[in-house]
Amino acid sequence: MKQKWKYGCIALVMIAAMLIMTEAGGKKIQDDTLSGIMIVIDSGHGGKDNGAMANEANEDEINLLIAKKVRKALREKGAGVVMTRTGDYDLASESATSRKKEDMRKRVEMINQNRIDLFISIHLNAYPSADVHGVQIFYQKGNTDGELLASYIAEEMVSVSDHVMHNKAGDYYILNETGPTGLLIECGFLSNPQEQKLLQEEDYQLELAQAIVSGIEAYFVALQ
Ligand SMILES: [Zn+2]
Repeated sequence: MKQKWKYGCIALVMIAAMLIMTEAGGKKIQDDTLSGIMIVIDSGHGGKDNGAMANEANEDEINLLIAKKVRKALREKGAGVVMTRTGDYDLASESATSRKKEDMRKRVEMINQNRIDLFISIHLNAYPSADVHGVQIFYQKGNTDGELLASYIAEEMVSVSDHVMHNKAGDYYILNETGPTGLLIECGFLSNPQEQKLLQEEDYQLELAQAIVSGIEAYFVALQ
């Protein structure tokens, strides 16, 4: 009987310690590890351009939901954040002859004209084979800082997705035409039914966003 009491007390002490640690962890979120850092978050597609689609899921909507979670987490760490879009629209003017071209040009302008430390372009993928799934991170060709940032984010993504693909130099307009260090992250494949479901879940979007932000933090620590 005495033994039981003893173990009961030990368990209570452990629970109390865990609660205190959780509380400390909660407070730590409101830190300023990214104070003074400016970041552009580019939420891919928008408006009539839905991007990849599968069943009821549209890429542009999910991109924005993830982007907003990234923005929130970055701001909580003291970073300044500029979003290329905050709603369901593209950046082209009414008179644009090619909406897609003008939309992309304006996103590039926002990245090049703001004094920023880095940018992250958020996308989702689709592929003819439904088996293909996972996270892909693309950096600017020849940009070693971009490659480093990609590796830190990939390290964090491993605990979110069971398939984080090898980082690659990406041949994308948003990477080729921009000056600041940046990444294009394909957060998952809408063409894979299981991943499509996950990508629509708020908890999964939050995990992706937190992995991106933790990777950004690790990158700036490494640069110091
Ligand atoms: Zn896309």
